Amino acid sequence: MNELRRLPSVDRLLHTPQAELWINEYGRPLTLNAIRTALEQIRQDFKPDQPHIREEDLFRLVETNLTRWTQLTLQPVINATGVILHTNLGRAPLSQSALRSIQACASGYSTLEYELTTGKRGKREIHAQSILTRLTGAEDALVVNNNAAAVLLALSALAHSKPVIISRTQLIEIGGGFRVPDVMKQSGAKLIEIGTTNRVHLSDYEIALQNYPGALVLHAHHSNFRLIGFASEPDLADIVNLAHRYQTIAIDDLGSGALLDTALFGLEHEPTVQESLQAGCDLVCFSGDKLLGGPQAGILVGKTELLAKIKKHPLARAVRADKLCLAALAATLLHYLKDEALTEIPIWRMISQTQEEIRRRALDWQARLGFGEVISGHSTVGGGSLPEETLPTNLLALTVPKAERFLARLREGTPAIIARIENDRIVLDPRTVLLKQEEELLSRLQELLDLYN
Ligand SMILES: *Cc1c(COP(=O)(O)O)cnc(C)c1O
Repeated sequence: MNELRRLPSVDRLLHTPQAELWINEYGRPLTLNAIRTALEQIRQDFKPDQPHIREEDLFRLVETNLTRWTQLTLQPVINATGVILHTNLGRAPLSQSALRSIQACASGYSTLEYELTTGKRGKREIHAQSILTRLTGAEDALVVNNNAAAVLLALSALAHSKPVIISRTQLIEIGGGFRVPDVMKQSGAKLIEIGTTNRVHLSDYEIALQNYPGALVLHAHHSNFRLIGFASEPDLADIVNLAHRYQTIAIDDLGSGALLDTALFGLEHEPTVQESLQAGCDLVCFSGDKLLGGPQAGILVGKTELLAKIKKHPLARAVRADKLCLAALAATLLHYLKDEALTEIPIWRMISQTQEEIRRRALDWQARLGFGEVISGHSTVGGGSLPEETLPTNLLALTVPKAERFLARLREGTPAIIARIENDRIVLDPRTVLLKQEEELLSRLQELLDLYN
């Protein structure tokens, strides 16, 4: 016990030069807390046969507490996986102009709900609305927190205690707990399943529309799942026409919601928002941070009359978009309006990057590291769009002993580098590495390779 009594007091520790540095960096209350916690830890872990407690061990413990408590868990990483819309890594990186727009509106006050001409209260809905209607040709638009919220809100406002017809081929789970049938039930809609797991026919829709007058029709994108083999679904336009013949509305949960044609870049065609509207859908829901390449958001476009009902529903307030989202989304949408999406929106730059450009970058990395091999491989789009579809790419492959360990070391540094292993080699895909991150990536790789050699 003698050894414990010799521990310095909190007060004495607080007056050491070391503590002064901590107080400068972390503030007095947190430093005090870290010192108390460290002393407590030493007392608890103390064993009678333990040698002398050294002051530097105590200091190290305080330091560890302080860094651990103040380390941000949400931090930037370098995505070298080649998965463009990596949901776990935050999906779409924003364009420069979207970032400027956030910075400008969030560092001060803004016209979020203020009309400059009248000096009166305005509506936050207007900020993305006119660009969205101009871009898609829809009558009206609304932005909410995310697409899951958009679907829940639309069904709650339009289908509460009403039958909603959906094909069994579309009763999907997209991951992260979003299951179409559960969301439908949550909204108070009565689920009317038609067809089978692999096939649904127009006649299935017609029978359900006859049996359930006043029912809505919900069409959902398959998202990250693919219906192949002995499988079929009617055209969206035919389903919508049929629904309209029965005086009912058709809602399309489009998921990714591309505004550009992915087929231009050697990918399969991902249905676009414009196509859903042209097919006659009364309401279309899609994400802001998938193929649109903007911030997390859920976007509803369609008939004025339906959107008016949706805007009035109490859930609309609960899932509304915030000013940062609206600032970034409007700026992102402007890129489409100005026909500069391919050059300004990071995910479209990644999608449209040619294999030759990527090969040049991989060769440059190899030359600068003096290590590795450039091999061909595949990038994927991700984000619940285009499952199984890949873009040919070039990878830098590093043959290192204990590849798993190397991969973990890449994740440990700042910024963390997320790569993958293919055939026991570390592979890095330049497609998803932003140009401004190349220097950091290469210097961290160099550091690690030096350790290994
Ligand atoms: C991704 C997706 C959603 C959910 O969108 P979030 O913006 O992630 O909430 C809903 N439906 C489909 C079909 C999707 O692909």
